[in-house]
Amino acid sequence: MTATHVIGIDIGGSKIECAVVQIKKDYHDWLHHPPSTYDETFAIVSRERVATAREQGYPQIVKKIANLITAACQQHHVTFDKLAGIGIGLPGAVSQDMQMVNGNTLALIDKDIRTDLRTALNFEGNCVCENDANCFVFAEAMGNIGLNLHHQQGVPLTQQIAVGIILGTGLGGGLFYHGGMFKGKYSSALELGHRTFVKDGKMCYCGRRGCTEQYLSGSALEASFNQHRPAYAPQQLNAAAIFALAEKKDPAAVAAINQYRHHLVQLLVDVSNTFDPHYIVLGGGLSQQASIYQSLATDMQRELFVKRNPPQIRPNELGDSSGVLGAALLPLFVGE
Ligand SMILES: [Zn+2]
Repeated sequence: MTATHVIGIDIGGSKIECAVVQIKKDYHDWLHHPPSTYDETFAIVSRERVATAREQGYPQIVKKIANLITAACQQHHVTFDKLAGIGIGLPGAVSQDMQMVNGNTLALIDKDIRTDLRTALNFEGNCVCENDANCFVFAEAMGNIGLNLHHQQGVPLTQQIAVGIILGTGLGGGLFYHGGMFKGKYSSALELGHRTFVKDGKMCYCGRRGCTEQYLSGSALEASFNQHRPAYAPQQLNAAAIFALAEKKDPAAVAAINQYRHHLVQLLVDVSNTFDPHYIVLGGGLSQQASIYQSLATDMQRELFVKRNPPQIRPNELGDSSGVLGAALLPLFVGE
């Protein structure tokens, strides 16, 4: 029986999302003869989110995911024999046997979530796990950004190179290389958040100093904002609120964002010098702030080693669905 649907699961430190994706057309020749837009082939028919509540432990996480999948399939009258598989995005490095080997959601480390979920669901089909930043860049690159580059600028998907950077609570990265995911041995290639950004800089939870994540994550921006405020008047504001304050010319917010943008340019230049990608796509909460893109190209141009044809810096096009959609694409394009 031909599969009609596929499930994507995106497990984050705070939320678990489940999407049911309908397969409307044959996708097998996607790389060589891609459609004009991804939604000719795939449609997200439902998305459901629940809190991860990681402090309640791993068995509870598996149970929640199994319940989400069962409820979503019942709601859309999708029986398991119609499922092409289940793809799972995990918030950390994923080994070849699809276990998460490091990440800040400790409850998931060294757990065989693929087997445990299959058992909980009594599901025998494809189940594939992957690092969430890899899922992000894969969805964006197989989606409309990559398709436009293929159709409108004549760069075939099979020759495209794209880097995805997630600027969120942490900082993650992934590489789309010639139509596939560049994974590294443990899906830990492009752990851009934990490369040395500032020598002997701020202490990182990974045990090293000066990691990129300590300068370019949402929490780094929040800390920087308070450093620019008088010591007697710290304010607990999230990144979006700091951007809103900067619009109103609040000096501490403006200073924190200027510093953030300076760091962002450094990272993007380093990534461009390293991978020479066609484009870099940004995801995560901070990527939604239009002001971070202002004069980015000019600022980068000054510092790039090769100044001809710099990569485009793109906001993501799939919004917050890129994680689940990328996960859903795993059983179809990556496999076990
Ligand atoms: Zn680190």
